[in-house]
Amino acid sequence: MKVGILGATGAVGQKFIRLLQNHPWFKIEALGASERSAGKKYNDAANWIEDVNLPSSIAKMIVANCKPEEFGNVDFVFSGLDSSVAGEIEEAFAKAGIPVISNAKNFRMDDTVPLLVPEVNPDHIDLIKTQKFTADGSGWIVTNPNCVAVPLSLALKPFHDAFGIETVILTTMQAISGAGYPGVASLDILGNVVPFISGEEPKIKPETQKLLSDLTDGKLTEPQINLSATATRVPAINGHMISATVKLKKTPSSIDEVKQAIQNWENPIADLDLPSSPKEVIKLHEDDRYPQPRLHADQEGGMQLHMGRLRESEVFDISFVAMAHNTIRGAAGGAILNAELLKVKGFLG
Ligand code: NAP
Repeated sequence: MKVGILGATGAVGQKFIRLLQNHPWFKIEALGASERSAGKKYNDAANWIEDVNLPSSIAKMIVANCKPEEFGNVDFVFSGLDSSVAGEIEEAFAKAGIPVISNAKNFRMDDTVPLLVPEVNPDHIDLIKTQKFTADGSGWIVTNPNCVAVPLSLALKPFHDAFGIETVILTTMQAISGAGYPGVASLDILGNVVPFISGEEPKIKPETQKLLSDLTDGKLTEPQINLSATATRVPAINGHMISATVKLKKTPSSIDEVKQAIQNWENPIADLDLPSSPKEVIKLHEDDRYPQPRLHADQEGGMQLHMGRLRESEVFDISFVAMAHNTIRGAAGGAILNAELLKVKGFLG
């Protein structure tokens, strides 16, 4: 399939380009960015920050404006657009009959738009049928969650299924790459921790609740979870870590029953064998020193969720840490996995 990338020059856009090299199903056909970049060759417009060479076929592509008429040749687009412009541009593409698979926040909480983590809520793709961007249903939008809600929902899903979740109190330790490029000033983050990330905390509860919702007859019913989040920026490059304490609805008899819930959890898309699926979706580390972003964020192509420090909590029921690569599992890789699921389910033709 021929794909376009909106926001192709940014940190997430570059990750799309890297991950789509040699993809068995998807080939990059068009790249779009702002007026500042449009009309230039990609290697003149983008400051390439990936640690592999920029593919020569991409380097010479001319960057387009993010207008549907400049993307006439594609089957669908991935979006890594800045959220200040994503809403208007993504809607224009959907209305022009070009499906949009987006990382931006603008449509995540729309009742008709799937907020998707394929291993958590694959059935939510049916919401696409309720969208009205085009009369014939050819244009639609699917989103992937915030880069904290992705690892959090994956970590909570086995507990949600086995026990139900009442309350979560968490602190994030988020990598610098989550702020895009050039991101956080070096004088702010080197040898330091910044105890606030603007706009981050308010996304975590609603997105996690939407991800864990039941979909029946085209309507989502959300679980009511009390959730309090503190988001901090730490000097890791890739890999957002979450430290969480959880009160469950049904109290487990022992921590072994909690571990068993993770081991018994079945990945609902395992049989589809999608190209970007990790073989082991949740890796539970027994060694108390793990997981660590530098050691584990890249494992299984950056698509694995790492959990560790799973223990009884003296305040609630359990405590644990969870960590995943923020620009791969939490952004571009997650969006590519969404596209793979949508293709095998027949939504992409
Ligand atoms: P970024 O590095 O700042 O890139 C933003 C992109 O948007 C660039 O390609 C930029 O093009 C383009 N853009 C800006 N203004 C535009 C306009 N008026 N018209 C068309 N294109 C325009 O940001 P990022 O970190 O890649 O994040 C991209 C999106 O993904 C954001 O919505 C972010 O919230 C979301 N996200 C990021 C992460 C992460 O870990 N970084 C994780 C999950 C979700 P120019 O180069 O031409 O300015």
